[in-house]
Amino acid sequence: MRILLTNDDGIHAPGLRLLAEVAADFGEVWVVAPDTERSGSSHAITLFRPLRLREVSERWYACDGTPTDCVYLGLHQLELAPDLVLSGVNPGPNLAHDVLYSGTVSGALEGAHWGIPAIAFSHFASDEALLPPLRPVLGPLLEQLIPQAKALGQTLNVNLPAADRMPFAGLRVTRLGARFYSNEVYERNDPRGRLYFWIGGSRVSMPDLPGSDCNAIRDNFVSVTPLADDITGHDRLAPLADALGVAMPEAAAKPDDRSRSRKA
Ligand code: MN
Repeated sequence: MRILLTNDDGIHAPGLRLLAEVAADFGEVWVVAPDTERSGSSHAITLFRPLRLREVSERWYACDGTPTDCVYLGLHQLELAPDLVLSGVNPGPNLAHDVLYSGTVSGALEGAHWGIPAIAFSHFASDEALLPPLRPVLGPLLEQLIPQAKALGQTLNVNLPAADRMPFAGLRVTRLGARFYSNEVYERNDPRGRLYFWIGGSRVSMPDLPGSDCNAIRDNFVSVTPLADDITGHDRLAPLADALGVAMPEAAAKPDDRSRSRKA
């Protein structure tokens, strides 16, 4: 099996190295990762400047783009034709709405978009010193989840509780919950006296939502959420069509995109 590995923390991130080492037991690992920290880059793709790909060691490539760019180049330039895309391990959770901001999750989603099963891994603790203790958990988890990711042909979003809470209580299949960050905007002056802003809240609240990824982590379970490519608000189709006095959209079968992962 060939595995394409990426992350959003950069090619030197300890979480990437850890996942590469564990994944090596399951196949031939190729790494295409951003050359610097790209956390919060979401599913961004670089279209209006050149991209550089640098081979840093055998089967390890650094790219000056986003995680999405990395997977794109791995598939369509290096033509790796992987059986699996892995992303992470991110130092910090990707729960609930986080998945929309996350470069880690988007790296996996980009793989799944091209028909490659994918798994994203995030760790609740942001302290990278807590990553190595996860190693004995990651192997069995990959063994359990790889066949499921392949069966679904989709992305599995995995969040691990903080390693200082090991042993974990088990594994839960979850839905995305809710997670609210405080809305800080820091206003400062740069060394030349010009105003700048730094955004991103530090305080987080997670309402109690049974079955959610947030609850699983709170209860010390590994959370596994299947993510679909389609973020249509299916439950809102009927009320919207009704309110606008138009017909419901036809339920069209989705095309099988798997063939797109190979160059014609
Ligand atoms: Mn990150």
